[in-house]
Amino acid sequence: MFNLVLFGPPGSGKGTQSEQIVKTYQLQHIATGDLLRDEVSRQTALGVEAKKYMDQGMLVPDEVVIGMISSKIDEMPDARGFVFDGFPRTRTQAEALDKLLEFKNTQIHLVLSLEVPEEDLIARLVNRGITSGRSDDNQEVITARIKEYNLKTEPVARYYNEHGKLERIAGHHPVPETFKLLTKHINKYLLPIA
Ligand code: ADP
Repeated sequence: MFNLVLFGPPGSGKGTQSEQIVKTYQLQHIATGDLLRDEVSRQTALGVEAKKYMDQGMLVPDEVVIGMISSKIDEMPDARGFVFDGFPRTRTQAEALDKLLEFKNTQIHLVLSLEVPEEDLIARLVNRGITSGRSDDNQEVITARIKEYNLKTEPVARYYNEHGKLERIAGHHPVPETFKLLTKHINKYLLPIA
């Protein structure tokens, strides 16, 4: 098994790059933002709770997200590996993920951090808001999301760096160039499936 965390602030391109990575290496994509939006649209109890936080650009409580990830991993026992996108976003989530994977005799092998200047992020997110229909893609909520990121999520990079797993990647290039940079690191662990 090969497990990757794609790390980076809102708007850094995690979603776009994850989609290409899972196709190229036949991995399973686990994106907490997408899973949460699905719960919201189905108006499940979890979704109703999560929406309160998401609409304000705040992180959903750890126990909610960790429970959701745990059952998602259990749904795919035969996976070749996972790409975690938008998770973990706090140190508590990172520690919980390590425990979950350890229980399955596996681990996080690599964390690729997409680094994009803050002014580029805001421009990308505002732009996406025009077409995405996402209720959290407006200037006010975007600012709150970036603040949450700097406060609670950035420290997760330190956690993985301490474990020798973090690689920082310039994320301001066009999509194909960034993808190439990411694959250079992944290829050390896993070869693309033709
Ligand atoms: P982005 O990274 O562009 O902000 P996401 O789709 O990853 O978008 O997340 C959207 C929102 O969903 C976040 O602002 C947060 O409220 C919630 N969310 C997603 N993943 C997590 C997580 N791992 N922990 C807590 N909240 C999360």
